[in-house]
Amino acid sequence: MSDCLFCRIVAGEVPADVVAANESAIAFRDITPVAPKHSLVIPREHYANLVEVAAAAPGTVTAMIQLAGEVAAAEGIAHDGYRLVANTGAAAHQTVFHAHLHVLGGRSMGWPPG
Ligand code: 5GP
Ligand code: ZN
Repeated sequence: MSDCLFCRIVAGEVPADVVAANESAIAFRDITPVAPKHSLVIPREHYANLVEVAAAAPGTVTAMIQLAGEVAAAEGIAHDGYRLVANTGAAAHQTVFHAHLHVLGGRSMGWPPG
């Protein structure tokens, strides 16, 4: 989708600080981090949210989670712990409607989330 920001990042048309990638997904640092370590894992193909990825390409969900684990290890947050977040829909604060997983770490997290 040419009008989708994250599709444009996949295509290399918008620069991103890529930290890891595999055949189905790429990971890059969030432009507005809300934790000391904050990356996004996105599928290379366009889907509106993670549930749509699961419906159409379940193997890609696995690839995204595997990549999230690699990001956590590379960012040094795997040992202490980190949070994977998939905001799904406007009420959940999804603002970019290309599926993505937030990988958040480097500080303690509260619960419930805001
Ligand atoms: P959402 O609110 O949809 O769950 O998350 C979208 C995320 O994309 C936000 O955390 C936001 O900071 C990030 N974001 C928006 N535009 C850009 C961009 O151009 N580059 C990068 N790296 N992240 C972006
Ligand atoms: Zn897209």
